[in-house]
Amino acid sequence: PPSLSACGLQMSKLTGVRAIMQDIIETLRRHQDRTFINLSVGNPVILPEVEQLWRNSTQTLLSSAEYGQVVCRYGASQGYEPLIRAVQSEFKRLYNLELSDRQILITPGSQALFFLAANAFGGDTPTGELRKIVLPLSPDYTGYGGVSFCPEALVAYRPALETDPSQHRFKYRPDFRQLQIDASTGCVIFSRPCNPTGNVISNGETQSIAALARDYDVPVFIDSAYGQPFPGLHYTAMQPLFFDQAPNVVHCMSLSKAGLPGERLGIAIGDERILRVLEAFQTNLCIHSSRYGQAIAAQAIASGALTTLADQVIRPYYQQKMQRLEAALDQQMPHHIPWYLHRGEGAIFGWLWFQDLPLSDGDLYDQLKQHNVIVVPGHPFFPGLTEPWPHTHQCIRLSLTASDTDIETGVAAIAKVVTQAYRSP
Ligand code: PLP
Repeated sequence: PPSLSACGLQMSKLTGVRAIMQDIIETLRRHQDRTFINLSVGNPVILPEVEQLWRNSTQTLLSSAEYGQVVCRYGASQGYEPLIRAVQSEFKRLYNLELSDRQILITPGSQALFFLAANAFGGDTPTGELRKIVLPLSPDYTGYGGVSFCPEALVAYRPALETDPSQHRFKYRPDFRQLQIDASTGCVIFSRPCNPTGNVISNGETQSIAALARDYDVPVFIDSAYGQPFPGLHYTAMQPLFFDQAPNVVHCMSLSKAGLPGERLGIAIGDERILRVLEAFQTNLCIHSSRYGQAIAAQAIASGALTTLADQVIRPYYQQKMQRLEAALDQQMPHHIPWYLHRGEGAIFGWLWFQDLPLSDGDLYDQLKQHNVIVVPGHPFFPGLTEPWPHTHQCIRLSLTASDTDIETGVAAIAKVVTQAYRSP
């Protein structure tokens, strides 16, 4: 190709799980004669009630006088006004939070929001200092690996591990003895609930991270792609932290796991000083998010239907899947093997850790493929972690989007392959 700029070089590489997805697609294409159990899927399930909500909203939009104004017009970079008003009234109703219209920003998906945030606040300053993008608890969302023009700015921290060997469960916690947030920090990002682990960083820990950052006027972007109020995929009690209590916190939402990934809609809620920077960046980059998507989201949020669906349909669906996975593992995995499931506190994945696994997560992925089961190896979920840590090659991610039967058959294959692996290192 023509020679690339430093930034072109950086952005022309696929990072993290995208590279593995390519291998999965090729495997499925090469072996069309075989039936695979695919536990690698990141796309949410299309639940009939959710599809119906978006179909109804579209029909209402089509027959409204507003239609031409929505699809035949450019709009404000900050977002479509009725969507901003809908978010204001829903947050007042649910959390008694008074938002001014300047404290909300709509972006084309939350991935774009993290891209804007990472590059506006992280990277080289005009005086040549490096401002870090801190991921306080590694592993975390693989997509953070590709967001910065300046990859050396991304710094992640090893967590503390809380283990329960008799129950085969574990939980990551932020390790505050290591975590460094200081004058060299540009911003902090973490997902809560977390993809890939299903972890929900506790209320107290979230407040502590925000307080550390506040001392240096550092913004904290809490990635709530699975969080409240929609899709609301948490199975443990959790309190979202908003900027009324922690002024440097930006609550970052996504419509993707609430059934609208294709429309590209992210919502940031936070201090106007932070959001105005992101808004200008967004105008330069892409002007604004899809107006069609914003208009149907405005209706579904204003009526309260989306929040209700999250509570009554989306959360119970995945919570039940999480219980299925836990039961399948408890029944089928041999007790003498040091396997650990991360506590399933949220999101749509199970995260398995095999302590002292005699082979790498990549080899385990390959062996499972031979048994017609596709999982995601864990190592791409540690973006920004540079210190060597064997744990990064001892984990796999399982998707809760599979059918109950596929979850059970998949777990049986995992039990067989890891039993063999521990027997003959
Ligand atoms: N954050 C997390 C934790 C995710 O899992 C995802 C998508 O899988 C995203 C952000 C990006 O989502 P979107 O850009 O569709 O809003």
